[in-house]
Amino acid sequence: MDKQELRSILDQVAAFLELQGETPGGARIRDAQEAAAAEFAQTGRSSTLDELREHIPPGLVEMLRIPGLGVSKVRQIHDALHVESIAELEAAAADGRLAALSRFGPKAAHNVANAIAALREAGTHRLLHHALAEAEGLAHGLAALEGVRRVDIAGAVRRRCELIQDLEFVVVHRGDESNRDRLIRRLREAPGVTALSGKPGAVTLRFRSGALADLFLASEHDAGLALVRATGSAEHVAELDARAGARGVRLEPGAAAWPDELSVYGALGLPWIPPELREGAGEVPAAAAGTLPRLVERADLKGFLHCHTNYSDGTTTVREWADACRAAGYEWLGITDHSESSAYAGGLRADHVARQHDEIDAVNAHVDDFVVLKGVEADILADGSLDYGPAILDRFDFVIASVHTRFGMNEAAMTERVLRALDDPRTTILGHPTGRLLLAREPYAIDLERVLERAAQRGVAIEVNADPHRLDLDWRMVRRARALGITISLGADAHSVAGMSNVELGLGVARKGWLTAADLLNARDAAAFLAYA
Ligand SMILES: [Zn+2]
Ligand SMILES: [Zn+2]
Repeated sequence: MDKQELRSILDQVAAFLELQGETPGGARIRDAQEAAAAEFAQTGRSSTLDELREHIPPGLVEMLRIPGLGVSKVRQIHDALHVESIAELEAAAADGRLAALSRFGPKAAHNVANAIAALREAGTHRLLHHALAEAEGLAHGLAALEGVRRVDIAGAVRRRCELIQDLEFVVVHRGDESNRDRLIRRLREAPGVTALSGKPGAVTLRFRSGALADLFLASEHDAGLALVRATGSAEHVAELDARAGARGVRLEPGAAAWPDELSVYGALGLPWIPPELREGAGEVPAAAAGTLPRLVERADLKGFLHCHTNYSDGTTTVREWADACRAAGYEWLGITDHSESSAYAGGLRADHVARQHDEIDAVNAHVDDFVVLKGVEADILADGSLDYGPAILDRFDFVIASVHTRFGMNEAAMTERVLRALDDPRTTILGHPTGRLLLAREPYAIDLERVLERAAQRGVAIEVNADPHRLDLDWRMVRRARALGITISLGADAHSVAGMSNVELGLGVARKGWLTAADLLNARDAAAFLAYA
């Protein structure tokens, strides 16, 4: 048994329970730790910890990684400032709100800002939404420098990979090489930059915020080539180089005019390939054969699916959801609170279902160009049956069935459990199919191939859960699902209106999975969605 891992699990169990208000060192925490230790000894994982993770905002868990912020301070920050993410915490440290809290003060706030910088500097993997926000901020700052014509975000961020190690940019400078050298000197002195290394065409900047950025400098003539090289995976770029070699094309700066990406792909006899596909996973041959799919876009989405209201663990009312989705251009919205057995998430009590449905009816009576649908995120119980049972489930327009408990089951049992839920005629969508939390919790053991085959057979949709901590189903398996003819549902899993932006991340997964509008439930109108359900 891995003693270090066990120690870390027990510490986290205690920390998470304390975050929920349990007394440090109290009986509840000791019992939970004892149970967790016994299970870990047997199975090598802890469902107690897995389940605790379900109902703590992941941003708070991330904050616990900051040295000097124990549970009680994280709670204090959360309660007093409503801070739920590292980004929000960094903002609070910068604008004085953190310093103004009791037990903090300017010195402590400064230390928190430095610790966040140090975490970044560790250069380990980050979640896409953190990396994206950081990249956009850096690109904005770099673009303002004298001599810079424009800055493009490249690399894995542009490909919308779920985890990001490096931030890469193409910086297009004005004029020729002498301008480039002047720009490099200016970069060294730019505000917030603490170090610069590298060679003329490519430099790495280190910022005081802890961020590292790889910059590829290019003139306007070479900007397209630089962007293609800096965006594609190593495999994708190698395939392009091989194709160039075979066709006698010199893919080098100055060899031809490469003002944009189209000029590069065009020289290779290819159409432009969307960045999300540039993984070296068949996209180059498909482009050559003219069989690239027309990938789904935001404008294709008519329906907003999977959100929680104040009836369960969300903070937004039915009315507010309807207003926000209508304003964002959606035609319909599917509300899905947790079912009753999800006590951890304040699941919708059976006797509240009617009340919520009345509320939805009242909102629908007010508008004629938008409709709110009555959904539920029903727990798949350990035996594979759905929480609430048939009589209550039949009162909903559609059902997302999700696993939220007992993550520690072995693969055979977990697979049977989920297959049984797929067999239930009430199941419309299988929610977050592997239960993974990126960088925090492994997927549960499950035979995904069998699950996908059954979903295809039963006509059940599979969710791409767009919560940035989940992005589950993984894009690699999304492609497999598409090959099996499975319909995909893009689920925002939003607990507040701010979570609506999850959809952009989910779209990245859908596009990486080669999905077209026809593959997505959200691209249908409300009547077609209901017909499917
Ligand atoms: Zn869920
Ligand atoms: Zn949910």
